[in-house]
Formats: sequence, C-alpha cells, structure tokens
Amino acid sequence: MTRVAAVIVAAGSGTRMGQPKQFLPLAGRPVCEWALKAFLDCPEVVKVAMVMTPENVAAHGERLASERVAVVAGGATRMGSVANGFKALPADLDVVAVHDGARPLVTPAVIRATVEEALRSGAAVAAVPAKDTLKRAGPGRVVAETPDRSSFWQAQTPQTYRRALLAEALERFAHEASATDESQLVERSGHKVTLVEAGYENLKITTPEDLVTAAALLASRGEGRAPAPRTGFGYDIHRLVEGRPLLLAGVEVPHTKGLLGHSDGDAVLHAACDAVLGAMGEGEIGIAFPPSDPRFKGIDSKKIVEHVLAKLTAKAAVLEHIDVALVAEEPKLRPHYERMAASLAAVFALPRSRVNLKAKSHEGLGELGRGEAIACYAVATVSVPG
Ligand code: MG
Repeated sequence: MTRVAAVIVAAGSGTRMGQPKQFLPLAGRPVCEWALKAFLDCPEVVKVAMVMTPENVAAHGERLASERVAVVAGGATRMGSVANGFKALPADLDVVAVHDGARPLVTPAVIRATVEEALRSGAAVAAVPAKDTLKRAGPGRVVAETPDRSSFWQAQTPQTYRRALLAEALERFAHEASATDESQLVERSGHKVTLVEAGYENLKITTPEDLVTAAALLASRGEGRAPAPRTGFGYDIHRLVEGRPLLLAGVEVPHTKGLLGHSDGDAVLHAACDAVLGAMGEGEIGIAFPPSDPRFKGIDSKKIVEHVLAKLTAKAAVLEHIDVALVAEEPKLRPHYERMAASLAAVFALPRSRVNLKAKSHEGLGELGRGEAIACYAVATVSVPG
C-alpha cells in the first residue's frame, strides 16, 4: 500500500477574525480538527503532523496526540512550520500532503486525488477554476487588464508531493519568508506541478461568513453535532469600605467607598467567571486563585477572566451569553449600566448584544440594605462541543 503522511499547518495567528481561525469552533469541534479527521479517515495516511503555536500545543497537544498524530510547534514562517511538521514524519513515505488547518471541508476523495497525481507526476495541488472574471488593477485601482479567466485556477490544499521532492524544496528554500505555499518552492526548483480539480466546498475559513457556510456544508454531509448549550451560575459578595476604588465589571464607578477583597474586589467579574466555569464543569475561581495565596493579592480581576477564557479555548467551548444582577443599595448603578455592560462584554470578548446587566436595591434590608456590601449574581450560557 502507498504510504502517505500529512502536515496540517494550524500555526497562524489569524488576526483577521480576532482569534486563530484554525481553532474556532465549527459544528462541535475546532476547525483544524475537521481537517485532521479527513486525513485520519484515510487508512493509507500513516502519520499526521499537526503544527500549532506553542500555546496551542500546550492547550490541545495531549488531547490530540496519538500513534498516528504528532503535535508540533510551528516556526516563525509558514515554511518553517511546514519544515517542523515534516521533521516529525517517518522517512519511509511515498508522498506527503501539506494541508491548511483552516480548510476543514477537505474530503478523503480530494486527498486521494492529490496523492494519485503526486505518485504519477511528483507534485499535485488541489485547485478550482476561477469562477469570477478577473481584473488586474493598476494605480488608483484603475483596471489595467482583464485576463482570460479560462486559464486561471485558485490554489487550495492539500498540496501533495513525492517525499523526496518536498524534502529538497524545504531544504533549498528553508528561509523563504514570502512563500505562501510549498508549490511555489517546488515550481522554482524547476519541477512541474499539476493542478487537481477539487471542489469549491474545500473552502478556507477566512472571514466569519465562511464558518456559517462550512457548518451548513458539514450538516449537509450529515456530519457534526450541534454543541450542547450549558448554563452556569455564579455569586459573589464583597464588603464596601473607605479608601478603595469601586470596581464593577472592570470599570471604576464613582463612589465614596470601594469593595474590599484579596483581589481588586470586582464582584461582577468574579460572579461572571464562576458562572462560566460552572457551565464548563470547572469548579470555581477560588481553586486557581486561592485568597490565601499572597501572589494574588490585589490581582486585577481581568487576569482571572483571562484564565477562564483560556479554559474555554482548551475545551473548544464558546461563551454565548452572560446575564448579571447586582444587588447594591448605593451608589445608584443605573447611570453606569451601559459602561459596565460594555466593559463586561469587552473583557469576556463577547459582542455587546450578548451581555445583559442590571442592578437592584435591597430595599433597606440587612447588610446589603445598609450599603455595607455589594453582591452580584451571574448566569452564563456556554456551548460545549458535543
Ligand atoms: Mg470575589
């Protein structure tokens, strides 16, 4: 049997969509893991090297690594990342496919078509004929030329090569920062590269609407289970004392007193963090940030939120919504609703529309009613992969 291996490159920083697009959740699993699944569904694929940032290796490595999957850290450039993945593969291979971790809809049929062409001619690139009329723009975006579309193809991945050919190109052009695909390197070595017609559905997740399209396409294949929504609840209370700023939801609210605490006392962020952890079945913030630990004295509660967001990422879970109810006799918080809600959204990396915040008085009853403390309740909804 032909021995095939693959390098899946998922090491990009993906700034266009706010977070690395290879790890955005898609139909119940991170984008790049759909690509991994397609390769693992081919029995002739003996090994897949998943190349990620060191942070994602730490977050996902243990879960993904197996006899057939190596998880390795990427290099400074795309070529560096491909080279690192290549090094993690065995030497006795016929062909190696390089695939983009942001192309989750690749199928075993497309993978095999590129493998067959690589076995025949040495180098194969999945591609589709250009659909739209192409324009070449000159200065001032003035059309300089309308080339004949019929000869233009859009390159995708997998890009699949006989092992020795890829090894040679990687070695010769190891320090090429500008190359956006391996095929350019193989072309420059003077070797012919053949296009293999793939499908338009082998799309690359680049902008948010691509995720919607990809989810619909996966559903049409009967794949992907909808993530299960889970609800978590959190509560916190802090004493109001003189001489401290009043921090609520990450913003300072004008008042003569502030909340006492081992941290900055932000009861809203604490309750919200506990709600999110609750939805994930991850206990509470006191476990990772014990109040007895002097390292966390005066800690900015946004650091606690960062810890919680990292837990979400590691589980490929998505925070959908937070609702917060403050209990405060004074100060009156209604004038600060919008500022607090906008901050809460920003701190948890949520759109403003997915956060709700309100406050109640305690009708003069008890300690809360005497303005000696502020309490906060929070409910969070989290989509956890099925
Ligand atoms: Mg607290």
